[in-house]
Amino acid sequence: MREGLSVGEAQDRILEATPRLGDETIPAFEAAGRVLAEPIDSTRRHPPADSSAMDGYALRREDVSKASAESPVSLPVVFEVPAGGHGVRPLAPGEAARIFTGAPLPEGADAVVRQEDTRAGKGRVEIRVTPSPGEHVRRAGEDFQAGDRLIEAGVVLGPAHLGVLASIGRSMVAVHQQPSVALLSSGDELVEPDRPVDGGRIVSSNSYTLAAQCREIGARPIYLGIAPDEPRSIEKRLRAGLRADVIVSSAGVSVGDHDHVRGVLERIGCRLRFWGVRMKPGYPLAFGVIEATGTLVFGLPGNPVSAAVTFEEFVRPALRKMMGHRSLFRPVVRARLAESLHKKAGRLHFVRVRLESRDGEVWARATGNQSSGVLTSLIRGEGLAIFPAESETLVAGSEVHVQILDMGFFDRADRGF
Ligand code: AMP
Ligand code: MG
Repeated sequence: MREGLSVGEAQDRILEATPRLGDETIPAFEAAGRVLAEPIDSTRRHPPADSSAMDGYALRREDVSKASAESPVSLPVVFEVPAGGHGVRPLAPGEAARIFTGAPLPEGADAVVRQEDTRAGKGRVEIRVTPSPGEHVRRAGEDFQAGDRLIEAGVVLGPAHLGVLASIGRSMVAVHQQPSVALLSSGDELVEPDRPVDGGRIVSSNSYTLAAQCREIGARPIYLGIAPDEPRSIEKRLRAGLRADVIVSSAGVSVGDHDHVRGVLERIGCRLRFWGVRMKPGYPLAFGVIEATGTLVFGLPGNPVSAAVTFEEFVRPALRKMMGHRSLFRPVVRARLAESLHKKAGRLHFVRVRLESRDGEVWARATGNQSSGVLTSLIRGEGLAIFPAESETLVAGSEVHVQILDMGFFDRADRGF
């Protein structure tokens, strides 16, 4: 039997153990990008009343049914509809009212003639066209009616959703909570970025990468610092993470003499669900749940690319599930390989690739050195090409799936149309 789980099996086990978080009610003004936790039904119609779509004159169509530029019809302008329309009386036959865009149509009026199709005189207006029925009138309820289902629960709130919420008078809205994620780095060699890196020390960059990956999707990172390779100090910091929804620790989950994270996790009540995923980068991945608190625990590998890629593939979908998203995974496109790739069968490789659109096709080219320590290989590319576990060769020109990490790939320097 093979050791370790496949990527898909590992994702399934993680997602099975991942709960959806509860709701919180927040100001709609702050809710962009959040996942709606309640269906939104309209309590009123919108627009609330018939209103004018133009600056011009409200009138009764039958009064100007033969008006044209050659034979205009002159009507008295009996009042002006103020914004909001307070105190407007009904329009009698043979009368016109001055009206502006968005103002409510006076009772009796059934069309609006644009200012450009009129000539204003003293207390009167010459109408120079015959409007069609309802011309330049926005009908009450043409956007939505009372009782309409406007937005389903589970939708990610965007600008238009929030505008619609405002128009039914909702300034507060129930959304799914955002998980807190406690980040721990471990290793005797690690220092913070502002410390010297002599004597074999290296900067702990993972906390920066992982915190940004959390923030990118709206999860709230909490930094637990660097623990030396010593079980008691790892335990102390991990315990501080128990109040978070998720703990993500990087490094120390391999099988080396100084890899204490797994042992400590078990001691603080974490039931490990699996260890090891048949992938590269990132084989030594541990996942478990702290029984007492329900905190999910991810022990990611320490190498910077491995940590970033395993976060992408395993932590990110779990965090998205927690915050109520229905689509948990990154977009995938089909691309042609610009060069052949080779590996041994057994593990799925995530190959960092740069993408390029050429003649309506997307081409993918590996970003050079694919060592799991070379973090710049992730800066140089926009996606991860999927080199399936059992394949040994992908020939140049063949099609691969590429997971898009950087949506900036779709941004353009030119207008594009
Ligand atoms: P380990 O899993 O402890 O064997 O670490 C694997 C490699 O990742 C080692 O070269 C570590 O120095 C490196 N590494 C571990 N943690 C970090 C970190 N927080 N930031 C950058 N590199 C790290
Ligand atoms: Mg280490």
